[in-house]
Amino acid sequence: MFDKILIANRGEIALRVIRACREMGIRSVAVHSTADADAMHVRMADESVCIGPPSGAQSYLSIPAIVSACEITGAQAIHPGYGFLSENAQFAQILEDHQITFIGPSAEHIRVMGDKITAKETAKRLGIPVVPGSDGGVPDIAAAKAIGEEFGYPVIVKATAGGGGRGMKLAKTAGDMESAFQTARSEAKAAFGNDEVYIEKYLEKPRHIEIQVFGDGKGNAVHLAERDCSLQRRHQKVFEEAPGPAITPEERARIGKICADAVAEINYIGAGTVEFLYEDGEFYFIEMNTRLQVEHPVTEAIFGVDLVREQIRVAAGLPMELSQDRLEINGHAIEIRLNAEKLPNFSPSPGRITQYHAPGGLGVRMDSALYDGYSIPPYYDSLIGKLIVHGRDRPEALARLARALSELIIDGIDTTIPLFDALMQEEAVLTGDYNIHWLEKWLDANLE
Ligand code: ADP
Repeated sequence: MFDKILIANRGEIALRVIRACREMGIRSVAVHSTADADAMHVRMADESVCIGPPSGAQSYLSIPAIVSACEITGAQAIHPGYGFLSENAQFAQILEDHQITFIGPSAEHIRVMGDKITAKETAKRLGIPVVPGSDGGVPDIAAAKAIGEEFGYPVIVKATAGGGGRGMKLAKTAGDMESAFQTARSEAKAAFGNDEVYIEKYLEKPRHIEIQVFGDGKGNAVHLAERDCSLQRRHQKVFEEAPGPAITPEERARIGKICADAVAEINYIGAGTVEFLYEDGEFYFIEMNTRLQVEHPVTEAIFGVDLVREQIRVAAGLPMELSQDRLEINGHAIEIRLNAEKLPNFSPSPGRITQYHAPGGLGVRMDSALYDGYSIPPYYDSLIGKLIVHGRDRPEALARLARALSELIIDGIDTTIPLFDALMQEEAVLTGDYNIHWLEKWLDANLE
């Protein structure tokens, strides 16, 4: 086992990893930008190293700075969290070359899954059902129009290098194709430096269902059921739950096994998420994330496992503690993502926290790096915390969420808490009867 792990991240996810390290008796090293000198992850880690100025590109994304921090502190492994370098194949490769363990899958698996076209081809080859669409990249507008005719409108043009919902454009009819194609391409070029796009049939009312998988790198893998992350704004998740309210035990067992078998076949190591759109009883693969997800705590809650501990164990070459026959769902869990944003436009709202009180009590978990007097810097993602509740069933989890929200105090900045207060009054949320478009429509009608 490692003596010391460096966490190449910040905020709540850095704390999350530090907590697992401490429970495992492993020393933790925080890295931080000059803007984060007072951040909670720096206070909580055993050691810390300043790696650069505020801009993410010069700090949390700086591979040389992070590798040097590892060498200075003698950390043997790096946990990348999510975002930043977590899905950067070159980073994983460089660490390997420096004999530092990357707590995550191989550089090769990150590369294959990071490119959405090769990911889709790989998924198909491994027996995972995919969204109908173009075979690979679409070179020009004539080819795009031909695909539109073949599959029938509406279709969605997506960036091969895409992520975070960017570089994605809907073409409702043939008349929209030219502009959707060109806009998706230029957005992709600007965001990812790669303008390759592909085209998929646009599903009208799907749910976003994702399967948590975990492999030991030696041909063994399990699945930890699904999360329903259909409540999204601009293709970004805001509310996630497990198990999915619309998924039957038979469907869960079937798609879970397909995913576990697929990752076992490629000797995948560590945590991964296979994302699907789900409509009329069918699953359609959209992508695989080769890292820990923001919403992993809902899975931890219903299975009573620590996914970060498991990641660290298999990275250290120890056997996986998870086994399919012992993984049983217990109750229901919900996570909401709290952002430092001002409604109704969701504009960033950094600033000083004048008062913070985290909810507690049975079945409540607050993953946040906030504290009284903390100043949220303006340079990074606006996620400031995740509130996770667990109950014996969905109604109990919902009641607990409403109760926890009533206890939560974050003063001094604007947050998305009022959004959740309002959503907790909505029939669709209470019954779980929603799809990926529901929240956008609700926001149009109620807020924006
Ligand atoms: P990203 O990596 O940018 O998050 P994804 O491929 O995971 O992109 O898609 C993000 C979201 O976009 C999905 O959860 C869904 O809401 C929407 N989406 C993607 N593909 C389709 C599709 N074929 N039909 C309808 N909606 C889609």
